[in-house]
Amino acid sequence: MLNIARLNSAPEIFYSLQGEGIRSGTPAVFLRLAGCNLACKWCDTKHSWGNGILCSVRDVAAHLEEYNCASLVITGGEPLLQQGPLEKLLALLPAGLHIEVETNGTLIPTPALAQRVNQWNVSPKLQHSGNAGDKSIVPAALAFFAEHPCAWFKFVVQNEADWASIAALGLPQQRIILMPCATTRTALEAARPAVVEMCLRHGVRLGDRLHLSLWDDKKGV
Ligand code: SF4
Repeated sequence: MLNIARLNSAPEIFYSLQGEGIRSGTPAVFLRLAGCNLACKWCDTKHSWGNGILCSVRDVAAHLEEYNCASLVITGGEPLLQQGPLEKLLALLPAGLHIEVETNGTLIPTPALAQRVNQWNVSPKLQHSGNAGDKSIVPAALAFFAEHPCAWFKFVVQNEADWASIAALGLPQQRIILMPCATTRTALEAARPAVVEMCLRHGVRLGDRLHLSLWDDKKGV
């Protein structure tokens, strides 16, 4: 069984545009799993932390296929807390489906997931997330993703002071993306200029949060 986040009394599965990362703007079906091993102060999906809705892997696979979409984004919560059921789900989905997994980078994927997932959107959490450093930064897990060419590192940043923490991780610079810390369109617009400056200064990508620009803080889109 998969534990899926509950939104408006239903399992959170929806069709939208990828709002973050290098495939931003790509139409995709989203599957949001319940439960997280961190508790970020500014988390924009706190509704996923609690008890979700248990659904059979077969039912979820059948429902996802109804969308007839070429791209699936598995997000959370922290999806890698459910690696066993996820392996079973991915085995039932079409081989050509592009699969992205959003993870906080604290857990190492199983070999079967590592082989099947096309893109890892790894978002390690810095000190301003409010998590204890030894919980949110797990060097062995980050080393695994650094070796994986399809892993991108998305950092939520507040200001220039965050760069020292990012640089200290020694991740491949060409796969680092900086995202403004914002959970509303207004906050995004206010936070963006400083992050643009950081990207120019350090030669890394800007990850603008397209879904906030399009839909503000509406959930399930
Ligand atoms: S890791 Fe992600 S889902 Fe978990 S608390 Fe932080 S922002 Fe929220």
